[in-house]
Amino acid sequence: MYQINEIFETIQGEASYTGTPAIFVRLQGCPVGCAWCDTKQTWEAKDTFIVSLEQTLEKKADSEHWANASAEEVLAVFNARGYNAKHVVITGGEPCLFDLVPLCELLHNNGYTTQIETSGTFEIKAPAQTWVTVSPKINMRGGYEVLASAMQRADEIKHPVAMQKHIDELEALFEATGVTPKLVYLQPISQKAKATKLAIDTCIKKNWRLSVQVHKYIGIN
Ligand code: SF4
Repeated sequence: MYQINEIFETIQGEASYTGTPAIFVRLQGCPVGCAWCDTKQTWEAKDTFIVSLEQTLEKKADSEHWANASAEEVLAVFNARGYNAKHVVITGGEPCLFDLVPLCELLHNNGYTTQIETSGTFEIKAPAQTWVTVSPKINMRGGYEVLASAMQRADEIKHPVAMQKHIDELEALFEATGVTPKLVYLQPISQKAKATKLAIDTCIKKNWRLSVQVHKYIGIN
């Protein structure tokens, strides 16, 4: 069973799949503890917040409520709601708290592509075809280390930045894990002008790419 915080259809606003219609499946639970996390409602999976899957679909605002659902029930939601998107983004929370193989395989068998967005601090259990976005969360409060195996599996690295320290930490991680990723996106935190300039300057210098969270600029989820 998967712990579902919400499921919705939108446009992917970040990194390589920017602009792609996508169904987001947000899973509940994350112990990583990023101070600037914008989905803190997913951190804890308290029993007192369990609701029906239908109720998670009808949420009008972020909340800690979540539902247990099988892979088949998740797919049934896509069909019942008439979603058109054929790309599924499994995010969180930290989706790698779960074995994502059954869900991704079921989706692949039904004509969907899959992508996961993970902090890289838990073993990635997903099929080879799944696009893996690692947003390495370095030195966060929860005390989890970014795994070398996650860095090796990543199809792209997406790194939030606000100051030079964040770029230095990323390069130190490449060094420590022995992984030099081909595709690195820097993403300014909170659309701040200073962070955006730093990200642009660094991308040009290192031949990395800029990810600006398009959905926040156009005011969609
Ligand atoms: S890993 Fe993601 S969900 Fe977890 S605290 Fe960090 S930003 Fe939030």
